[in-house]
Amino acid sequence: MRGSRTAPHLSLRFREVEFHIDTSRGYDGFNLITHAHSDHYGIRNISNPSAIASVETAMILQEISGKEFKGMTFRTGERFEIDGLKVSTYRTGHMHGSSAFLINSESKVLVTGDVRDYSHLPECDVLICEATYGSPEHVFEEEIHRVIEEANNSTYGVYPIGKAQRVGRILHEYGIAFSADRKIRRLCHLFGIETAEEGEVHLTSTRNIFGMTGRKFILTAQKFYRLPRIVVSDHLDYRGIIGMIHHCNPSAVIFYHGKPTHELIEEVKDMGIPTSTLSDLDRVQIKK
Ligand SMILES: [Zn+2]
Ligand SMILES: [Zn+2]
Repeated sequence: MRGSRTAPHLSLRFREVEFHIDTSRGYDGFNLITHAHSDHYGIRNISNPSAIASVETAMILQEISGKEFKGMTFRTGERFEIDGLKVSTYRTGHMHGSSAFLINSESKVLVTGDVRDYSHLPECDVLICEATYGSPEHVFEEEIHRVIEEANNSTYGVYPIGKAQRVGRILHEYGIAFSADRKIRRLCHLFGIETAEEGEVHLTSTRNIFGMTGRKFILTAQKFYRLPRIVVSDHLDYRGIIGMIHHCNPSAVIFYHGKPTHELIEEVKDMGIPTSTLSDLDRVQIKK
């Protein structure tokens, strides 16, 4: 709890070692950062020597904050050891640098962060995962072909961090030049994705697109924007979440981020797997 609000993330204790996941804060221990989206990294972790993030996550945090990342870094796919606990890391396909952590204690505990592709994730005993699209109404197919087809003097609204680079790469693959807002440009260049002065497409943020004229689309699986939509998602849909749980084959699931619905929890329980959300767990008061 932070004041009267429930924090969106959690801390885990293994014997003497504490891991605080994403924005979760503690007085001691280590902060595992799954990726560089603002609802996950926790702004103070940039200058936190106990923060642990992938090299790419650290690069993005430095670029957007202008500050040096003071924590420890790893390359996604590597293993490291903290106070005798082995931690393995895995790609999740959500964005550059996004990593899941498998903590090898008496049981194997996997914390996923946000996930688009679960195929690299390992089996585990306890799966702690997101549920951004944790409602049966969110079943979708991506429309990558439309990203190409609609590229005709168009403006695309995208999340500047992550989604913009993915869409930029797709456009490049098809030889389509694009221009972009400054922030998007800087992040594209960080990962060697070229932008043009002028192109068939202009990439802007999901906020700025509303002030734009001409052909415009928002690239998301969310349904709440009142603009023509092209479905491109950096998250699993509802069936994908179920698929990930089958794949990781856990004995228990905890949903820690996003919106797990009653239907999702019941479906996982019907698979014979005990399932919790953060509100089912013991809560502690965190100082502001
Ligand atoms: Zn994210
Ligand atoms: Zn998220």
